[in-house]
Amino acid sequence: MSQETTLILFKPDAVKKNLVGTVLSRFEKEGFVIRGIKMMSLSDEILAEHYAHIAEMPFFPSVRNFMQESPVIALALAGEGVIGKVRDLLGPTDSTEAAAGTIRGDFGDKSGDSKMRNVCHASDGPDTAAAELKRFFQDGEVCER
Ligand code: ADP
Repeated sequence: MSQETTLILFKPDAVKKNLVGTVLSRFEKEGFVIRGIKMMSLSDEILAEHYAHIAEMPFFPSVRNFMQESPVIALALAGEGVIGKVRDLLGPTDSTEAAAGTIRGDFGDKSGDSKMRNVCHASDGPDTAAAELKRFFQDGEVCER
């Protein structure tokens, strides 16, 4: 497996429930290292770009509102095979379908918003990771480790 860097967003549900440290410690316990981290409020423009693949879905306006409920925390996380491993640690999109022990299974919404309030976003492949890291971090904000 190769050395990779992925883009993670702690979504507003994680931020508002003070779950950031708990989830981040799961990533660090896997041996992954932080290359960049910052809190930011997401504009309509960045959300339209980030969620272009769901922009035509009827639930997109709800997702945009949700992602603007509070600032998010963007994380550049590095390690061997980190892109796929973090997706596995998260579990599937719908928190009610995510197994206990996964981040979405343990901390995602279980009462009606389970497909939306699912704790974290994580890049789904190397090309997406490169584009998303560029989208959320400026030159120089992702450090060498
Ligand atoms: P993932 O984040 O698991 O890769 P997608 O890229 O398919 O999932 O969707 C992006 C985000 O849009 C999801 O994480 C979730 O917050 C939201 N979402 C996806 N499907 C739905 C849905 N059917 N209803 C409400 N929100 C959804």
